[in-house]
Amino acid sequence: MHKLLIDKMSVKYNDPVDYYIQLGDYSLSVNDLIGKKISINWLNTVFCSCGRKMKKFYRQSFCYDCFWNSPEASPSIFKPELCTAHLNIEERDLEWEKKFQLQPHLVYLSISSGLKVGVTRKNSLESRWIDQGAIEGIVFAETPNRYLAGKIEIFLKNYVADRTSWMKMLKGDINKVDLIIKKNELSSYLNPELKKYVINKSEIKKINFPINKLPNKVKSIVLDKKNIPGLKLVGIKGQYLIFDNDEVFNVRRHKGYLVDFFTS
Ligand SMILES: [Zn+2]
Repeated sequence: MHKLLIDKMSVKYNDPVDYYIQLGDYSLSVNDLIGKKISINWLNTVFCSCGRKMKKFYRQSFCYDCFWNSPEASPSIFKPELCTAHLNIEERDLEWEKKFQLQPHLVYLSISSGLKVGVTRKNSLESRWIDQGAIEGIVFAETPNRYLAGKIEIFLKNYVADRTSWMKMLKGDINKVDLIIKKNELSSYLNPELKKYVINKSEIKKINFPINKLPNKVKSIVLDKKNIPGLKLVGIKGQYLIFDNDEVFNVRRHKGYLVDFFTS
């Protein structure tokens, strides 16, 4: 048994994707747990990333102070087009925002439940796709900062969703489209000011997840309501553990939960 502070699983792009849970200094391969039983018991305690210990979070995985004051929870995190560091204007912490926003960003198209558009830092592209459970992705544009990527994304949202249906994603109920055709079509709609950031190279990356059995109907386990009582793991997709009774567990959604974790 391990006492574990849940964080999102770390991932490695491989065929299939490799998933790990960090147990102190040791990286536990979650792929190796497929076929085994997993138990997770929540200890009625959560920790915000600032270190504050609580019975429950204020919102998302933040305490009250962090939700309202931390740059990690500011509106531009969720809406990149609201970024202002390139104008030297502070939202919550200008130094932090400059470091985070003023670096190369990518706008991508991916297929998780269907076509979607998103923005990510240049060095986190594959892990972003994996976290969303995307089976394919293509880079659309590269910009020198987060604000410009957000401008392109918000324009593309007129034509493409920016959300995933997690149930369809997990069931493999996927609306496939040709990403290269879509990219060409969408880039033709952009004005020259934004079009100059579109990447000419069009390479589709495919992602395979370690799954032995797809769920038929999906029920999500929330630790606030129930623990995981020794369920057999049959696959991993996105940040979800999939069990053989069709229940699933969103690991990232439980970031900061203190639990007892054991396998058998
Ligand atoms: Zn906090």
